Amino acid sequence: MRYVSTRRTDGDGDGASFEDVLLAGLARDGGLFVPQSWPAPFSKGELEELAALDYADLAVRLTRPFIGDAVAPEALARMARECYAAFDHPAVAPLAQYGPGLWLMELFHGPTLSFKDYALQFVGRLFDHITARRGQRLTILGATSGDTGSAAIEACLGRDSLSIIILHPEGRVSEVQRRQMTCVDAPNVHNVAIAGTFDDCQALVKAMFADLPFRDSLNLAAVNSINWARIMAQTVYYGYAALALGSPARPVSFAVPTGNFGNVYSGYVAARLGLPIRDFLIATNANDILARFFAGAGYRKSEVIASISPSMDIQVASNFERLLFELHDRDGGAVRALIESLDQGGGFDVAADKLKQARDQFSARRVDDARALDCMARAWRDGGKLIDPHSAAGLAAAEDGMADGDGENRRAPMICLATAHPAKFPDAVERATAVRPALPAALSDLLERAERVTQLPNDLAVVKEFVGAAAAGRYEGKVA
Ligand SMILES: *Cc1c(COP(=O)(O)O)cnc(C)c1O
Repeated sequence: MRYVSTRRTDGDGDGASFEDVLLAGLARDGGLFVPQSWPAPFSKGELEELAALDYADLAVRLTRPFIGDAVAPEALARMARECYAAFDHPAVAPLAQYGPGLWLMELFHGPTLSFKDYALQFVGRLFDHITARRGQRLTILGATSGDTGSAAIEACLGRDSLSIIILHPEGRVSEVQRRQMTCVDAPNVHNVAIAGTFDDCQALVKAMFADLPFRDSLNLAAVNSINWARIMAQTVYYGYAALALGSPARPVSFAVPTGNFGNVYSGYVAARLGLPIRDFLIATNANDILARFFAGAGYRKSEVIASISPSMDIQVASNFERLLFELHDRDGGAVRALIESLDQGGGFDVAADKLKQARDQFSARRVDDARALDCMARAWRDGGKLIDPHSAAGLAAAEDGMADGDGENRRAPMICLATAHPAKFPDAVERATAVRPALPAALSDLLERAERVTQLPNDLAVVKEFVGAAAAGRYEGKVA
């Protein structure tokens, strides 16, 4: 499998390899990597075979077409098995019926309690495997608004070929989220609290990646959600659920709480593989750029609004560029023009036929904090279930859609992705239900553990010096 950039020009030859895509994150022209051509969809007979597999074996089958021969079959099978055996539920991604035709898929059974573990645990092993084979050391650098940081750190633990440095905005992540990063005691893990916002952290990371000599000298690699390998690994739970509840004659629908469009785009990829999937309901919070787009108001940036679902507090959904590429018949020039209007004019519109095509497979709903809190309260009162504010956005969108009649003639099961454990967001859960959710046993002493974090100003030169020293192993984090 070869990969091309969403902003490709005619002259980009035969594309990039899976290894390059895994390590590079972003293409040189600023675009995102996508497969040069989609693999042939699975046949009916193959789907029947896939439906009998457990999660780890399914992961091998669904990722193999994208990895090709970059990883040997036995090694890939071993990685998948090791990775998902450590999750705390035997089904890995269990489905629970919530109402008539309505299911919740629990994606919080990994080590850091968000869906991001499902991909990052796997990608961490891929990084380790490929760097070990190349005899290299890799420095993983990222910015986080909460959940990516801890999931990435946990994925790099005990992997000697990797160092990881994560920037978070000081005082702007929840205590549980911060401690899941800073209480990890490993010499190759470095947390930096930046005096600034998430956007400042992301700008620092971008600037370090843009400095090519710096980037090359430290072998920097990215773990943010634009990394193709994360997208690929997330297709597995879509396939797992679709094969469990659907069939070629009865495809399923998914409701997906969305920020960067990474998770829901993975569902699109699963559908392209021929899995029995009908459509996707995108849930946003008050940061509703996608809801406005699907309502026909164009794609227009506005100010980020802080909400009870911080991992969805995003205005520009980076991975949406991958869908735009498909909608524009894989024309990199058309995508470049749209992104230019977004960067320079704050937005763009797509042609009516493109919007129609997008709406065949996607719809979107905005769920504000009040509605999400109400959904959480009812889930607790009527079903004895505590749900986190992100999952609540998806569930509320599904309920509202069904109530508005989208559900008429709907025989397709609706599967809502529960993207985080309620104990990750105890304040919002307590506000909705008056119950403070307990952390799972493995994390029960989290609030008592010592933290290791370095506070730095929002100053590129200072942060760069720290990153250089940390990557070289010359820096041992201080105990705060
Ligand atoms: C990251 C995250 C999201 C948003 O996922 P995207 O891939 O950015 O759309 C939703 N919920 C939770 C709990 C998250 O951590």
